[in-house]
Amino acid sequence: MSSRAQPGAMSPDQRGSDPKSTGRKRRNPKTGPLTRSENMSRIRGRDTKPELIVRRALWASGLRYRLYDGRLPGRPDLVFAGPRMVVFVHGCFWHCHEGCINFRIPKTRSEWWAAKLARNKLRDAKVRADLEAGGWQVIVIWECEVENQAVLASIAKALKSFPKLLRHRVRESAIG
Ligand SMILES: [Zn+2]
Repeated sequence: MSSRAQPGAMSPDQRGSDPKSTGRKRRNPKTGPLTRSENMSRIRGRDTKPELIVRRALWASGLRYRLYDGRLPGRPDLVFAGPRMVVFVHGCFWHCHEGCINFRIPKTRSEWWAAKLARNKLRDAKVRADLEAGGWQVIVIWECEVENQAVLASIAKALKSFPKLLRHRVRESAIG
């Protein structure tokens, strides 16, 4: 029982469970802002650490949701169909969290980065507008906020203030 699975034979959900088995360093969340490569690895990711923190917190408050619903604009990270609310967990760098320590335009190729990040921002705005036009409320939780219990608690409270937020809610007849 002492032998371990071959590196590379690990399933995706084992990643990170044994730091020795991969070459990746694990970041202590207290050590400060993310490095660029850490940010890079998260773009368009699923099941990122910030998302998992949010999901665990909301689940623990009794909320149930769908994940990554591709039928909705922007494929929201969490979908609360009953109250028609969606939650995005946004990385601060890629989604341009203004004023945040994790959001700084890199000094090298700064024009290229500025243009790229501006496009991301524009896309986020369009996704939000499209969702709102469809009657959805949009909540954004920033990556730098996910360890903040007060923020998560207030979001859970907002979501719960809508009645009958149930996992198997009958599909709304009011669509369209
Ligand atoms: Zn931030």
